[in-house]
Amino acid sequence: MRYSKLFGQTKKSSPAGEVTVNANLLIRAGYVNKLMAGCYSYLPLGLRVLRKIENIIRKEMNAIGGQELFLPALHPAENWQKTGAWETVDVLFKIKSRTGRSYALGQSHEEIITPLVKEYLDSYQELPLFVYQIQEKFRDELRAKSGILRGREFGMKDMYSFHLNQGDFENFYEKAKEAYLKVYQQCALKAKVTEASGGAFSQKISYEFMVLTDAGEDDILYCQKCNYCINVEIAEFSQGTKCPKCRRGVLKKARASEVGNVFDLGRKYTRDFDLYVYNKNGEKIYPIMGCYGIGTTRLMGVIVEKFHDERGIIWPESVAPFKVHLLTIGRSKAVWQFSEKVYCALVEKGIEVLFDDRRKTSAGEKFADADLIGIPYRLVVSDKTVNNRQIEIKKRNQTKTSLVLLADCLEKFASPALK
Ligand code: ATP
Ligand code: MG
Repeated sequence: MRYSKLFGQTKKSSPAGEVTVNANLLIRAGYVNKLMAGCYSYLPLGLRVLRKIENIIRKEMNAIGGQELFLPALHPAENWQKTGAWETVDVLFKIKSRTGRSYALGQSHEEIITPLVKEYLDSYQELPLFVYQIQEKFRDELRAKSGILRGREFGMKDMYSFHLNQGDFENFYEKAKEAYLKVYQQCALKAKVTEASGGAFSQKISYEFMVLTDAGEDDILYCQKCNYCINVEIAEFSQGTKCPKCRRGVLKKARASEVGNVFDLGRKYTRDFDLYVYNKNGEKIYPIMGCYGIGTTRLMGVIVEKFHDERGIIWPESVAPFKVHLLTIGRSKAVWQFSEKVYCALVEKGIEVLFDDRRKTSAGEKFADADLIGIPYRLVVSDKTVNNRQIEIKKRNQTKTSLVLLADCLEKFASPALK
């Protein structure tokens, strides 16, 4: 991609009132644009990152048997009235049409997926069933001051599972938990797993996946010796208490952001929508359901909160919009010709490259923009390097530079085991 042609370039400042690191950097670097509080447009650069995150999630959901589908975001009020959520869910956006019909904007999709599965589920032999989607959710959040960590419209992967019995559900629940941890690991994040009561379904256990960051909105207590972790909101313990699990460590309090959670929904929705099957003994069974959410846009924001410095973003390679950022510094014909050659060679090898080919931009500005945008490897072709047909290479998170020949460069970036 040629930067001169890219829609959505760097900005000198971000909108007034935008206080978070994630939104400030993402806006200034040209990844997102703020429409209003809690609502962001994803520009070409930002969409590349989001799609990479989604694909990591997609791969792991498919690996545990998930089948991807796509549900509407506009829902008939009746579905929400049936479960009682029309009255009880305070974040639900409600809409009236010009003909007086009521609708909801999807804040989650249990109310849609359950009747859908009812239409297609013919036999107990079709269970278990795991379906998921990656879609926008709408929530009338009171506070929307955390940049893309809390949107009124935001991206989520939501999976729903249907099981014949509790044992089968619990097996899958554990598998989903492991798949979640793999997702976060691939996004270079360490997620702690909290055990929490499932809110409205209070007897049930839910797990929340928390990443430590001061930009988060949750307080957690975690053990420094084992993996015990709990949300302060529901905890009977306080900081300094001996860990109730390992009894060796003490609990430490920290700020965190919830990047996902899994809920045991029991038979709430299958009963509400009268979704049942007959088991092999001819008994009528209401399947047990689980739901599994990951905030895709929040995940992107948390990655920025964790990986940045005073100059800009430092993307982990797995989610970076491009692998390399090629900069041309200098005005000579030789420099431009060689840069073009390097760019074309990288593209030909299938290496994702952003080429800063702006003719009138100063070297200082190009370097500053490269740091702000945060692509993992910076390549520079300049008057200094071109005589020896070399390219200067530097990692975004290091200061050390080295000079390489084009052939070495191509080999390095084409190799999957990139160090
Ligand atoms: P929170 O406590 O942060 O409001 P939640 O308990 O309402 O989250 P769920 O309804 O289970 O979360 O949604 C699943 C996931 O979607 C969350 O774990 C989080 O990563 C993400 N998420 C929830 N609300 C938002 C939001 N307003 N903006 C961005 N991501 C969100
Ligand atoms: Mg919420």
